[in-house]
Amino acid sequence: MRATIHSHASGRFSVSITCEVPEFQPLPKTYESIGIDLGITDFAILSDGRKVDNQRFTAKMAKNLARAQRKLSRRYEQAKKDSRDVRDCTNYQKQRRKVARLREKVAFQREDFLHKLTTAFIRQYDVICVEDLNTKGMLKNHKLAKAIRDVSWSSFVQKLTYKAKWYGRELVKINRFFPSSQLCHVCGHRDGKKPLAIREWVCSSCHTTLDRDINASRNILAGRRITPFRSNPTVGTTELAY
Ligand SMILES: [Zn+2]
Repeated sequence: MRATIHSHASGRFSVSITCEVPEFQPLPKTYESIGIDLGITDFAILSDGRKVDNQRFTAKMAKNLARAQRKLSRRYEQAKKDSRDVRDCTNYQKQRRKVARLREKVAFQREDFLHKLTTAFIRQYDVICVEDLNTKGMLKNHKLAKAIRDVSWSSFVQKLTYKAKWYGRELVKINRFFPSSQLCHVCGHRDGKKPLAIREWVCSSCHTTLDRDINASRNILAGRRITPFRSNPTVGTTELAY
């Protein structure tokens, strides 16, 4: 066993301990599967119609953090104006620790949220289908709320991936070229691309009213069912090829 002590910018200390644990036992089968679409308005939209909300928390934390960071840069500017070294400015240092603590809090809350969510999915479903994240066009962006959300998405898929391996579940990543938001999940008719502003439409073939996100997550789930894929007969991650 090995222990490492870390000192953080927030003034907090942490100890990490490395040790061997017995192998994980696969969870009993539930014979249920789910499709998950990672969304903009909601964190995730499920093929059973449920939505996972997280936006309010992200936006609120981002706002607090942005405000604290602005205060920090004002104090930095003030120190420069007074020709003082920031290392000697008590006010600047105090604010710097405050920003670090806030950043830490955002990260902890996000981790907690994502761990609870992914564990719940793994417990409930044998097969979990998610869209490849590149679909969302994750670009380097400077908006804090968006950055937090993007980090959350990749962390979400990462956690699902290793937990699926641990507990004998199957995680299916749907290829990014799969037109999950263009197909009608009822009849399979392809209506073509729609601007993001269109949240709901009526299928021109079967006349079902479709909710953009729920429709996409149902297609993500169906994408796994109708497409032949390189299946790993035991457990783990399967990449779909289209
Ligand atoms: Zn249709």
